[in-house]
Amino acid sequence: MQQETLAIHAGYEKDQQLTMAVPLYQTTAFEFKSTEHGANLFSLKELGNIYTRLSNPTTDILEKRFAQVEGGAAALATASGMSAIFYAIANVAQAGDNIVTSDKLYGGTYNQFVHTLKRFGIEVRFFDTFNPQSAEALIDDNTKAIFFESISNPSIDVIDIEQIVAIAKKYNIMSMVDNTVATPYLFKPFDWGIDISVHSTSKYVTGQGLAMGGMLIERVGLNDFIKTNDRYKHFNEPDPSYHGLVYTQLEGFPAFCLRARLGLMRDLGSVPAPFNSWLLIQGLETLGLRMKEHSASTLKVAKFLDTCSEVKSVKYPFLEGDFNYKNAKKYLINGASGLLSFDVGSYEKAQSIIDKLQIFSLVTNIGDTKSIVTHSASTTHQQLSDEDKIACGVTPGLIRLSIGLESVDDLIADLEQAIRV
Ligand SMILES: *Cc1c(COP(=O)(O)O)cnc(C)c1O
Repeated sequence: MQQETLAIHAGYEKDQQLTMAVPLYQTTAFEFKSTEHGANLFSLKELGNIYTRLSNPTTDILEKRFAQVEGGAAALATASGMSAIFYAIANVAQAGDNIVTSDKLYGGTYNQFVHTLKRFGIEVRFFDTFNPQSAEALIDDNTKAIFFESISNPSIDVIDIEQIVAIAKKYNIMSMVDNTVATPYLFKPFDWGIDISVHSTSKYVTGQGLAMGGMLIERVGLNDFIKTNDRYKHFNEPDPSYHGLVYTQLEGFPAFCLRARLGLMRDLGSVPAPFNSWLLIQGLETLGLRMKEHSASTLKVAKFLDTCSEVKSVKYPFLEGDFNYKNAKKYLINGASGLLSFDVGSYEKAQSIIDKLQIFSLVTNIGDTKSIVTHSASTTHQQLSDEDKIACGVTPGLIRLSIGLESVDDLIADLEQAIRV
């Protein structure tokens, strides 16, 4: 079945009431039919719900549906994108290990990697996004993951994915992609041999800025890769915290998500509220349509800005001549998502344009139906030194847009009145 159909039907078998909408199971706990039933659930002899921190029927439908739309074997929903990323890393790495990551990252991910993982004894080694080959020199026996973003936020770059996956395969290391900005409709990680994908579903999946969420998905066949792999022994040895369970020996259970659920979710508990899962299910139903529209409108806005003499440069991966054009055309399907940036030369000019905009809201978020403008130099990157700002690609006159689903003609008219004094 195609993604559009899966997004609307997968994972939901109608209950006794035959409700068309997925039911919302807003509950913390579930009753056992007998002591034997309870014991069987705890020992995994029978599958069923115990407590919403471990599983919930509404969240379960979201997970099954998302896994299928992405083309993966299984998924684990988390309370936010940041917790999905932490679980992905903590599921493979522990104190003394390291991960290798591209250097164009979401700010929250950068902080988690550099500060929090460090306190947990996990070292993070950065390679140059535009020279993926440089990752190879960073790998050693304790490297547990190679991480990158398919379309990076906020820098809007597209890495050469084939090159980085080839390096991961050469050393038998798990490759992990943050697919938040592309979504499963613009980039299909598992078609390119990536092992794990993570998402912040707080952006395009909820789509209307309604709910926080994260998702962790593993590819089909990952068990076979883990089973014989010395780097991931902890999946193949008895887990003392789960009465000696060996994750890769449980037939029919994708081991990566199983361990993340039974170990990390059980112990750390970044569980999504059932209501948020329910909202994300509504969002997922229309995600494909919205991504095409976000992408088409953003390309139109990019082309318009490119014609403005007041604009010094425009960055959008599907704009011909863009630095990322070749990779974007190779890896992205249906469009290049809704983020673009442009430079108007100075802090004052950027300020004056942003303050004149009528439809765009000044917000640090992306992926909403409502168009958003961000001025990094005065907000997200304010605390950085001038040199560090330049290193992050944040010039004083840089304006970032997340193009929503308003009429693109209205958006262009709004930008035109703000830019042309
Ligand atoms: C927003 C975002 C995150 C973090 O997700 P939250 O849901 O805000 O925790 C991670 N990666 C990317 C690319 C993002 O845009």
